Amino acid sequence: MHPGNPLPPHRRRRRAPCASRLLLVTLSAITATRAGAEDHPLARLVTGSRQIAAAVDATLADPVTVQVAGAIGGAWARQQLLMCAGDIGSALDLPDVADRLWTRALAAAQQRGDTPATILLTTLVAQSSLALGDYARSRELAERLRVLAHRHGDANAEAQAENALGVLERRRGRLDDAVAHQQRALDLFKSAGNGIGAMRALSDLGTILRDRGDFAQALDAQLRAVAERERTGDRLSNVYRNLALLYREIEDTAASRAYFERATEAAIHSGIPSMYSSATGAYASLLNDIEDYAGARRAAEDALAIDAALGDRPHQGFEHLELGRALLGEKQTAAATAHFDRALEIGRELGQRELVARSLLHQTEIALAQRDYLRARGLIDEAIAGLEATRLRPQLAQAYALREQLARAEHDDAEALRYAHKSAAAREELIGIRASRQLSALEVRHARSDADQRLAMLAKDNELQAARLQAQAVQRRFGAIALGGLALALVALIWRHRGVRRLNRALAQRNVEIERQRAALGEANARLEQQAAELYHAATTDWLTGVSNRRDVLERIERALRESRASGDEFAVLLVDFDHFKQINDLRGHLLGDRALTVGAHAMRDCLGGDDLLGRFGGEEFIAAMRARKPADVMAVAERMRTHVAAQLAWLMPELRGIATVSIGIAFLSDTGGDSEVAALLEAADRALYAAKHDGRNRVHRYAA
Ligand code: GH3
Ligand code: MG
Ligand code: MG
Repeated sequence: MHPGNPLPPHRRRRRAPCASRLLLVTLSAITATRAGAEDHPLARLVTGSRQIAAAVDATLADPVTVQVAGAIGGAWARQQLLMCAGDIGSALDLPDVADRLWTRALAAAQQRGDTPATILLTTLVAQSSLALGDYARSRELAERLRVLAHRHGDANAEAQAENALGVLERRRGRLDDAVAHQQRALDLFKSAGNGIGAMRALSDLGTILRDRGDFAQALDAQLRAVAERERTGDRLSNVYRNLALLYREIEDTAASRAYFERATEAAIHSGIPSMYSSATGAYASLLNDIEDYAGARRAAEDALAIDAALGDRPHQGFEHLELGRALLGEKQTAAATAHFDRALEIGRELGQRELVARSLLHQTEIALAQRDYLRARGLIDEAIAGLEATRLRPQLAQAYALREQLARAEHDDAEALRYAHKSAAAREELIGIRASRQLSALEVRHARSDADQRLAMLAKDNELQAARLQAQAVQRRFGAIALGGLALALVALIWRHRGVRRLNRALAQRNVEIERQRAALGEANARLEQQAAELYHAATTDWLTGVSNRRDVLERIERALRESRASGDEFAVLLVDFDHFKQINDLRGHLLGDRALTVGAHAMRDCLGGDDLLGRFGGEEFIAAMRARKPADVMAVAERMRTHVAAQLAWLMPELRGIATVSIGIAFLSDTGGDSEVAALLEAADRALYAAKHDGRNRVHRYAA
């Protein structure tokens, strides 16, 4: 959007339908009730814009906002934010706001080494500083831009640098240099294919040619520019104003007036206060020429109020000048002098020679009228020196005439004669110029009727173009709002996303920690379970044989007996005692005795079912119990047990075969009354065992009541 836009930034304004309506309303307010200059409705409009800009400025340039943008998008985002805020200032027609923010953006771009942004922002700041009348800075930036753009082959930016330099040289009164710059700008814009830029350069060229008195060329340039501008709708008010000023110079008052009116209309349509003040301020000069002093004063006051609000120094200078002329026409000499003083002051401050020279000329006129010849001489000499350096021919002729008048008033005949000659020569030159003006006016009239026809044909096109531009402006505006909204949403999303990510990271860490603790706990639990199992095993198992210990087997028998009693099942208890064990120990030692106990216990287990119980009752005595088995089956199991154990012991101690045996005593629940306790069954089994021993050992005995 920026490149290819050679306008001073505060003139870079899209058509704003709402603003133009507002402007129309405020303009009708002006005609209805004339407010004081400082209370002008358009000035209030500018003040309103300034408030908006201040709010935007404060928000977008807020260190926190900038830091947030920086934190998210880095230096690039900060630079974009500042540029965007500057654009808003520019869109609000406030070059000082735009200038300040763009300058910061430029510094950021330079620091980042962002060449395209540096070129763009240098262009913008060169233009904003030009609009603000900071000519030294504008020139410095434009020079830098020219070199930079040339080095990077950016013809468009180079053209804009040349264009700005042309305007600056013209304001310094260096018209030849100004022409050279604008010519280069024109060629560069053309080579870059920037039609709008080319036409602006052409229009600026026309203005310089007019200043130089080359009216035919100036008219040619302006008419070519106006044709292009009418087509694109770009800065139409300014080009109409330039044409009006040109017609004013060739003394075609009617055409000048018509174009001033068109300029004003276009400015109103554009909705841009600065454009309106520019058209109205220039109109004041024509109104002064045709001695409509009241009209001139009103126009100049309006323009001054707006430009004061805008902070546009260069235009304020010219408006003070026209206001002074109008007041002088109305014979308000003191008030007029004050305005010429202001104009002179601004002209000097900005180094604007035309303004200085013209202010000096008017002050000379006043001094002469007041017969203050000393002051008049000082003023006119300074004016002449300036004008001779700048080739401002009409003013120079006027200055010589005033100088001649002064010499005559001072009775300095030689001086009077000298300036009479100079004045005559200048007048002659002006007559020649005037003749050439009239001639070119004739040519121009031809050209104009031609152009008018062309313009009429283009009118439809223009309307379409204007509608398109309006639509674009609205789109851009809403686009900007939507973009801003999106950006904010994005910032919020990114912010949230970062927060969520941070949270997720913390959660993941905690999960890892929890997982670690859970694993540790699992291990500890497993260890505990194992220990518990080991403890349980130790508490319930006989350490030597691995079968249940006495307490455990008795508990189990107790439970099983209870269940058998409840269900009415048979229940059998077997007491197994190793025979001659004392002797075995004595013969083979305790260690083998231990081994014999273990082997015997395992042999017993081999003879039992999974649900049958076995435990070490004490010493070399074991106890087994069976549920729901027929007595005959139990007797068979006992018998098998006896032989199997004996066989295993014989395998262990072959020399003790026949000695290492077991005796078994059995008691059935049915034999002891059906509701016996464990103790009763044990006693019965013990009795049976005793009987087996008594009968010679190595046998099974069933208790008999
Ligand atoms: P009986 O045929 O009448 O049962 O004669 P016995 O020698 O087996 O009976 P007694 O009650 O007189 O002796 C039991 C012996 O068993 C005494 C004891 O030293 C031995 N004994 C008891 N517990 C253990 C043990 O854990 N290991 C070993 N090696 N011997 C044991
Ligand atoms: Mg015993
Ligand atoms: Mg024994």
